[in-house]
Order: sequence, then structure tokens, then C-alpha cells
Amino acid sequence: MSHVFHRSARATPPLAVAGEGSYILGSDGRRYLDACGGAAVSCLGHSQQEVAEAIAAQAGRLAYAHSGFFTSEPAEELADLLVEGAPRGLDKVYFVLSGSEAVECALKMAHQYHRERGEPARRHVISRWQSYHGNTLGALSAGGNRARRAAYADLLIDMHHISPCHAYRGRQEGESAEDYGLRAADELEAKILELGPGTVSAFIAETVSGATLGAVPPAPGYFRRIREICDRHGVLLILDEVMCGMGRTGSLHACLAEGIAPDLMTVAKGLGAGFLPLGAVLVGGHVHAAFADGSGAFQHGHTFVGHPVACAGALATQKIIRREKLVEKVQAEERLVRALLEARFGQHPHVGDIRGRGFFFALELVADRDSKAPFAPERQLAATIKREAQARGLLCYPGAGTVDGEAGDHVLLAPPYTATGAELAEMVRLLGETLDALLG
Ligand code: PLP
Repeated sequence: MSHVFHRSARATPPLAVAGEGSYILGSDGRRYLDACGGAAVSCLGHSQQEVAEAIAAQAGRLAYAHSGFFTSEPAEELADLLVEGAPRGLDKVYFVLSGSEAVECALKMAHQYHRERGEPARRHVISRWQSYHGNTLGALSAGGNRARRAAYADLLIDMHHISPCHAYRGRQEGESAEDYGLRAADELEAKILELGPGTVSAFIAETVSGATLGAVPPAPGYFRRIREICDRHGVLLILDEVMCGMGRTGSLHACLAEGIAPDLMTVAKGLGAGFLPLGAVLVGGHVHAAFADGSGAFQHGHTFVGHPVACAGALATQKIIRREKLVEKVQAEERLVRALLEARFGQHPHVGDIRGRGFFFALELVADRDSKAPFAPERQLAATIKREAQARGLLCYPGAGTVDGEAGDHVLLAPPYTATGAELAEMVRLLGETLDALLG
């Protein structure tokens, strides 16, 4: 009997004992093709000796020094590297250990920023329905997945939500993609005006929506309009790139493809590629200046901020990504992934939408393609697909509640940047067999 409190309170999952490239090996000798990196984490696959050695070397040299007393070489070098590739204006980095911590940190930083500047009335946070920003209470309050929020509804902080930018379900008949994007973005301005200009602190959004909507890139022009609206109203733009960032969508940061820069940007997952936990907030110079010119300190902190060993692991990860030109590989091979998915699922009666960018794709499953009607939630299709796929040796990341937080199902794919063409083809073949077995 396992003493670990597992996700399922009734069952113990299989034992994973080793990693080998894009595969995880079970204790029973089975090989699982990791086509989702757990939750879009393992972007270098599971056996990078160089990262393991960097971690061991730092642990041997200096494992931990509290950030209240010291900085460390790996934290400084990693911050330099991140700023070098960052969207314009982001020139400070605050290191945490997870995506949720990064989101908490960004929300609090925005809050204090306005107070440092003498605007204490700015307290509202606006986010989008169907978003996911993490599971700590602040991040969950920002998130827009109704099912994940429901269990803790009475604990959540009051935040405000607008519609997601999701053309497959939101675009009207005859409306161009650009017009739809502007209409979706204009909801932000309407919400700011409703709450009262001067009372809104920040707008937070995933640049490419991930866990709860399924790899939805923004409509063209959406984020440029969002940026304009935020600027017009003095609202900080926080882009949550915990899942879609660090090369996952074929550019080092997803917002680079949108031609805009946020004021604050959260990253995690692919930052350390799962070798050790690490998250970060990339901070605009103007935001940092408000602290430097104001009280002088951010009223926040965790024991493990800037953990030297975690930073050393992420530094080795990021050096490999740059040296091996893996972001360029992802960008170049997006076409291949799309073609494989289109060939296998383009005519599938229960695949309503195939979408994504880079190595970040999803299929949205529907009971009926014409009406886009989802399967009944009682069928628990997403959970069933996850089980069936794993039984066939494929790890994918299905999600439920895609349409409104309750109904709807999608399957998210986030293979390692290092995946070979043969592995990408195997991913699509195994997923096809899984869907055929379950949906006929
Ligand atoms: N933000 C986004 C966009 C995410 O996708 C996630 C996790 O999936 C988080 C935040 C939370 O990250 P973590 O699970 O590391 O706390």
C-alpha cells in the first residue's frame, strides 16, 4: 500500500523508473512515449546528462544560500540569459519555484507597483474565462476554469473575467479573424470602464491558451489591441507564458510572435525542463524602477527564491536549447506536426478543431462536427482518453470543460523539442488508435 497521497485517492499510478529520450520507462518494463511532457514541461525529453551534471556540480559547490543574504552565480547568469532573449523592456527576473508562484508574484508585484506610484485605488484584476493560471488561491482566483474554481469558490479572491479569444467557438458567421480578434479584445476596455478607470491593476492572459482551452493561439491583432487598451488605462499587462513560453510555440516567448511586450511575464515548466522545479517573472524595467524609486523593496518572498541548484539546472537547459537551436527546430517542424495531425484527424467525425503553434497542439473533440456540440460531460471522455492512451504506451494531456468549464473535451500534445520525426508520427498513430478504440 502506497503512503503517497496520489492524485486519485483510490488508485496508485504505475511506477516510473527511468527516462530515455522522449520515453518514460515503467517498472514493468513498459515504454511510454511522452507526447505531453507531463504538463508541457519536459521539453528536452528525459535523459540530458549535461543538465544532471550541472545540477550535481552546483549541489556539490553550494546547494542553498537564502536570497535575503546572497545572490548566486547560476541565478545571475540565468537572469542575464533570460533578459538577453526577452521581449523589449523586460530586464529583471524574479525566480520562484513554480508557475503558480510566478503568477502570485506577478499579481502582487502589479498591486504594489501601483501603490509605489501613488495609485492605491488600483486593486482589480481582470482575466479571461477558460484560462488557467495555477492552483494557489490567488492564481486560481485569476483562472477562469469554472470546474477548477468551483471546489474553492468560497475561498477565492474577487477577480473579473472577460471572454477568451477562441475563434473556433467565438467567431461569428462572416466575421474575419481580425475583426473577431478586435471584438474579443475590446471586451477588456468595456470591463475596465465598467469597473471604473483608475481601479484596475492588471490584465492577465495566457498568450497561447493551454491547459483548460487546449493550445489556442490568439486571433491576429488581438494582443496588439489588448496592449493599446492597457496602455490607455494604465493597466499592467501580465502575460502568463508558464505553459506556452520558453520555445514551446516556436519562438522563445509566444508574445514575440504577436509583436508586443508585456509589463510582466511569467514562465516556468520549459524553463527548467522538469529537471528541477523553477519559475520566474520577467519584469519590465519601468515596473522595477517604481520599486527602486519608491519604498525600495518588494513585499514578497519565499524561502527558495533564486534556488542556486534549480537555477543551475535551468541554466544548463537554456544553454542546450540555444546551442542546439531547438526553438528553430520547433518552428521548422510545426508544419510536420500539423500535417500529421491533419492527415489522421482532419476528416475524423469527432475532431472538431485541430489547433496550435510550434510543438503545442490540441484536438477539440465534438459529438457532432456541424453543430460543434460537445460530448456529454458524464461520459468523462478526456479522462477515458488519458487512461486508454497510457495503456497503449502514449502519454497525452486531455482536458475537460473546454467549452464552458463543464462540457467539452480536448487533447493537448506537447512533445519534447528534441522529438524525432518518427516519434511525432508514433504520437499521432497511437492517439489515432486511442480515439478509434473509444469513439469508433
Ligand atoms: N499558468 C499556466 C498558463 C499554466 O498552464 C500552469 C500550469 O499548468 C500554471 C500557471 C501553474 O503552474 P504550476 O503547476 O507550476 O504551479
